[in-house]
Amino acid sequence: MVAALLPTYARADLRFVRGEGPRLFTENGEVYLDCTAGIAVNALGHAHPHLVNALKDQAEKLWHTSNLFRIPDQERFAERLVARTFADRVFMTNSGAEAIECALKMARKHHAVSGRPERYRFVTFEGAFHGRTLATIAAGGQSKYLEGFGPPMEGFDQVPFGDHDRVQAAIGPETAAILIEPIQGEGGIRPVPREGLRGLRELADEHGLLLILDEIQCGVGRTGHLFAHEAAGIEPDIMAIAKGIGGGFPVGACLATENAAKGMTAGTHGTTFGGNPLAMAVGNAVLDVVLEEGFLQRVRDAARHARQKLARLVDEHPLVLKGIRGEGLMLALECVVPNAEFIAAARDARLLLVPAGDNVVRFLPPLTISDEDLDLAVEKLSAACGELEDAMAGTTPEAVK
Ligand SMILES: *Cc1c(COP(=O)(O)O)cnc(C)c1O
Repeated sequence: MVAALLPTYARADLRFVRGEGPRLFTENGEVYLDCTAGIAVNALGHAHPHLVNALKDQAEKLWHTSNLFRIPDQERFAERLVARTFADRVFMTNSGAEAIECALKMARKHHAVSGRPERYRFVTFEGAFHGRTLATIAAGGQSKYLEGFGPPMEGFDQVPFGDHDRVQAAIGPETAAILIEPIQGEGGIRPVPREGLRGLRELADEHGLLLILDEIQCGVGRTGHLFAHEAAGIEPDIMAIAKGIGGGFPVGACLATENAAKGMTAGTHGTTFGGNPLAMAVGNAVLDVVLEEGFLQRVRDAARHARQKLARLVDEHPLVLKGIRGEGLMLALECVVPNAEFIAAARDARLLLVPAGDNVVRFLPPLTISDEDLDLAVEKLSAACGELEDAMAGTTPEAVK
């Protein structure tokens, strides 16, 4: 890696020059099957023709005007999200962290304008990830991201994942909202059970709190529902989205009910780039595809296919893998070996995966992947297992543990 870059990433030594659907091509013409989808960003794969055309058309017309003026495609994008979700109001951002920042500010402002300015605290969960800004690392609460960056921002009360009683105990007179990912992404693909989400909704209602969902990774069709919380039959007050909604163009948004958003009046918040014409051309193009009749059903079918094949793979390779979890095409393989070794072996088989907490590897193919390519991915995973098993030949299962 060049010294000119801030070395905050331990990058794989791979340089891609082209992508097509679930495939990435290196400068030497090597082909990789991409089951990272840019960390759940390239929801429609690489170089999707509809997205490419939308971007090209818009590039020749108008890129940016600022939010001083009306942006027709932004209005359309917001109206489409409002029509399809719990939300009445949408604020555009360029990233997930900014969408969460908006959500946090909005929740505090909501209580402030409701005559309860003392309510500024958030109940959050261990293993959470909400971004890299100072507020969002405080919300995530992970020491590896907080260390050395000064006193963490005040106002986050973190409770163990999946512990309803501890949530209840953490709620006090200063609590403004509960913030949770319906499926923890970086934390290791840990889904909140449906009754857990319903329980949080009830607690929020009972105590006059707002429920904020971080669907930055699990939203936009990834679970086979447009948004993951739909499966639980609940609605949040505020929701942050990003990643998949831009299909690779930086787009994020904070969605809210009219009530939750009531304090966010003219001048209280803003963004220079958020929702500019170029971003909104792509955002609308992503919605065109994802909202098409049958798209989400296809994701659910692909997910069922992938899950069956992966379950068999896990059964066949107990020295390497021990389980599978997740929902839709947001899946994880639980590793026996260190997850970094599994990812390296998969890379040798020309398959790309993402690590996550709790020693899992994330399997996040584009939502458009075919059954044939899912089968190919499983073959490559099987080859990776074989490579690792050969390397440990002679060791017994006990010794591996
Ligand atoms: C990626 C992610 C974020 C942060 O998004 P950025 O665009 O990197 O700022 C926040 N929350 C979740 C759940 C994420 O997966």
